[in-house]
Amino acid sequence: MRRVVCPGSFDPVTFGHIDIIGRAAKQYDEVVAAVLNNVNKRGLFTVPEKLDMLRQTTAEFDNVRVREFDGLLVDFCRVNGIETIVRSLRSVSDFDYELQIAQMNYRLSGVETVFMTANPRYSFLSSSLVREIAQHGGDVSSLVTPYVEDRLREKFDERRDA
Ligand code: ADP
Repeated sequence: MRRVVCPGSFDPVTFGHIDIIGRAAKQYDEVVAAVLNNVNKRGLFTVPEKLDMLRQTTAEFDNVRVREFDGLLVDFCRVNGIETIVRSLRSVSDFDYELQIAQMNYRLSGVETVFMTANPRYSFLSSSLVREIAQHGGDVSSLVTPYVEDRLREKFDERRDA
């Protein structure tokens, strides 16, 4: 059983994430999409909201599980019998950062990192840009699923009313 993890903030999940998770699901027996619960960094969405959106958007893949983790990713891997981390590279700037983290994770635990090249259709796409566009009422329908689009609208309406 080859189980891998696709870790991330997923704040919120975009078509770029779904592309990578779906491609990993074809290559491996099981993919765990793991949402980082970062106590030092509050996102736009709460962890339960991120998990809900990820579950909704990956429901089409039978072998994808959605989980939350905190602390070290390599500890999550050890506890869950995961030997490989899947990350994606959108640009050279991603590479610099990812290489360092991958080497550190290998040093800490022997867990391998596999890089997938981002689909060029989505290589410009990031959750932070989606948040910014949605915040200003822009059209994000080609960047996220309708379900996520609705959650973004709700979130910014809530904030405006607060
Ligand atoms: P992190 O803060 O850990 O980078 P993200 O949610 O931004 O969390 O990204 C999680 C993973 O998804 C990373 O491997 C990232 O490179 C990948 N990813 C994010 N956006 C895209 C995209 N548009 N196309 C392909 N991969 C993406």
